[in-house]
Amino acid sequence: MEKVSSKRLIVNLEEYVVEVAQEKANIMFKGDLDCYINWLICSNNKHEIKKKVKLIDEVLEAKKPQSIPDTVKTAMYNNECDFCKEPIYQGEEICQAEGYEHYIHKKCCKKESKTNF
Ligand SMILES: [Zn+2]
Repeated sequence: MEKVSSKRLIVNLEEYVVEVAQEKANIMFKGDLDCYINWLICSNNKHEIKKKVKLIDEVLEAKKPQSIPDTVKTAMYNNECDFCKEPIYQGEEICQAEGYEHYIHKKCCKKESKTNF
């Protein structure tokens, strides 16, 4: 899957606020303050975030290539997916897709719509 881009944001917070946030980040996210802030904003804006994520998913889905019928198989070797550039691990479902020379993740192809049958 294409990674969702992240953006560097500089904010000014009171020192005691940062201390509390860091303590929480230590407990909840092994000290990762980025994860804590991200979680905080997401949990406070569930509806809006859900809409954004849905939109991102739709855009990604539209970019996916069409799989070539009857080419789905299980990966025998570890490889790399030409669509998402992530590793293909042995045992994952792969298939051939329009516009791609090599096998890619099955999950990186458009979901087969039932109207195709
Ligand atoms: Zn892939």
